[in-house]
Amino acid sequence: MSVETQKETLGFQTEVKQLLHLMIHSLYSNKEIFLRELISNASDAVDKLRFEALSKPELLEGGAELKIRVSYDKDAKTVTLEDNGIGMSRDDAITHLGTIAKSGTADFMKNLSGDQKKDSHLIGQFGVGFYSAFIVADQVEVFSRRAGLAASEGVHWSSKGEGEFEIATVDKADRGTRIVLHLKSAEDEFADGWRLRNIIKKYSDHIALPIELPKEQAAAEGDDAPAQEWEVVNRASALWTRSRTEVKDEEYQEFYKHIAHDYENPLSWSHNKVEGKLEYSSLLYVPARAPFDLYQREAPKGLKLYVQRVFVMDQAESFLPLYLRFIKGVVDSNDLSLNVSREILQKDPIIDSMKSALTKRVLDMLEKLAKNEPEQYQGFWKNFGQVMKEGPAEDFANKEKIAGLLRFASTQGDDGEQNVSLTEYLARAKEGQDKIYYLSGETYAQVKNSPHLEVFRKKGIEVLLLTDRIDEWLMSYLSDFDGKSFVDVARGDLDLGNLDSEEDKKAAEEVAKTKEGLVERIKTALGDAVSEVRVSHRLTDSPAILAIGEQDLGMQMRQILEASGQKVPDSKPIFEFNPAHPLIEKLDAEQSEERFGDLSHILFDQAALAAGDGLKDPAAYVRRLNKLLVELSV
Ligand code: ADP
Repeated sequence: MSVETQKETLGFQTEVKQLLHLMIHSLYSNKEIFLRELISNASDAVDKLRFEALSKPELLEGGAELKIRVSYDKDAKTVTLEDNGIGMSRDDAITHLGTIAKSGTADFMKNLSGDQKKDSHLIGQFGVGFYSAFIVADQVEVFSRRAGLAASEGVHWSSKGEGEFEIATVDKADRGTRIVLHLKSAEDEFADGWRLRNIIKKYSDHIALPIELPKEQAAAEGDDAPAQEWEVVNRASALWTRSRTEVKDEEYQEFYKHIAHDYENPLSWSHNKVEGKLEYSSLLYVPARAPFDLYQREAPKGLKLYVQRVFVMDQAESFLPLYLRFIKGVVDSNDLSLNVSREILQKDPIIDSMKSALTKRVLDMLEKLAKNEPEQYQGFWKNFGQVMKEGPAEDFANKEKIAGLLRFASTQGDDGEQNVSLTEYLARAKEGQDKIYYLSGETYAQVKNSPHLEVFRKKGIEVLLLTDRIDEWLMSYLSDFDGKSFVDVARGDLDLGNLDSEEDKKAAEEVAKTKEGLVERIKTALGDAVSEVRVSHRLTDSPAILAIGEQDLGMQMRQILEASGQKVPDSKPIFEFNPAHPLIEKLDAEQSEERFGDLSHILFDQAALAAGDGLKDPAAYVRRLNKLLVELSV
């Protein structure tokens, strides 16, 4: 044992402690995944070395045969993993094995409930990596040395997973990392060649570098035991270079877990090889569940980039648009240079054409999923729908395709679930309907009961109900789908086109004519509060309604702009009334101008309330209403 110097005991970051607590109290029914996680890290470390060695060949230090070795000791109850990858310096070990660098981690940890089942699901989304060693071990030792550092600058990290770890500087002759797991007594079954071999085959066959186990040898007598021989147990070739027909679903799934650091299987994948002017392979996955940091600015996005099989960078975001940031996968190019950088990627025209091809692949894959497995697609939509809604604004060229993938709640459903596609909507449109009607608002309950829908209900016309914050903004980028334009039913002078019969239209005009006097009176009473007063033909049950001007901002956009500190232009609503409603008839017959004024204001305020808008002067509303109530009761 070499000498240890500069020995220190340090505490784990709070979030690591929480994670370790979960590990140790064994959330996992599937304990064997610890090996997959550690092998995945070792493989990443080798990828990093291979890449850095392109410009600094001396990092290979003569040991260019990159590999991972897994060994075990039945008597000592240990399992040891050794890689000759990039390794860690003392500082690396303190940061990487003592803290979690992902942004939003603290917030994420707050979501943990203490309910093991729920938490294990959440933690799956988060990914546990190295710390999963503590599922099976009650002590973990890491010996590592960063490639390029002197043999005397090795590090020994050790912890029982309880809140602190020890760190010391040691000699380590070879670069890379050795992890020794001291198995819990109940988990000593893992110190077994046959068991380890099976786990490696099952989860890590796709790892592109050799994973070796000790060859079983006949026990030798005395001191002349032969040198240990090793044998490769995995396939050790990059999965994406193999032909599609040859790769099993389980292999695709395990590869996904490796690159995505996910615990769940992906929903779908698309594996392609492109030959011709550009040559590249791509393997793209749709995850089943949104990562906890989908909406964090700094969250990882993009694909793993390889150039001629050599790993070049993680999160190469130039290959997909931002609204597809949840897609995981690999792209391996034959055309790019090995020393390509993020900056170069941003400017390279090759990347643009790859980006549009990859984008199309993803959209095709989603279309296929929606068509063949609508239930799965529904799950996808719940997780990623909000992000997909960013699409039409970002990706003009694919607007129609993205629109086809959108899902909405509608008046035909009754639970507010977003499950109606535009194609489905159009397929059941009314005879003569050449528009796609929608209504947006704060909550489902509010839009579902909005008076704006009265005429649609009466005529049996479906209306899409949009209540996500992003919806109004989305609709400002979508003008039509399949040649049919979108119409906000709360906006402007509703024209139902062919859906209104000639008689209906004529009758409405007649009524409007007879109510011109009333329109003027209300206009005078409401004054500045409205931009216009008119007779409505969208109401059957309610007395009045507020419509938004054709060019004015809707409520959601207003709120978004206000929240971002922008000045929002002033706009006034249009007051529409239902001439057939008894309250309006009463209003029309009212002799006292004062009472007429009060009643008009009350109707106006009520319409604002029904639209989900707050009242400008709630006290005035209450005062007016109470005045009427008092008069009523005498
Ligand atoms: P993740 O792999 O998701 O980043 P982990 O907790 O699994 O998280 O690992 C934390 C970090 O520790 C890794 O990002 C890496 O920098 C470092 N690390 C882990 N295993 C190794 C290894 N075998 N060789 C070099 N560095 C490693």
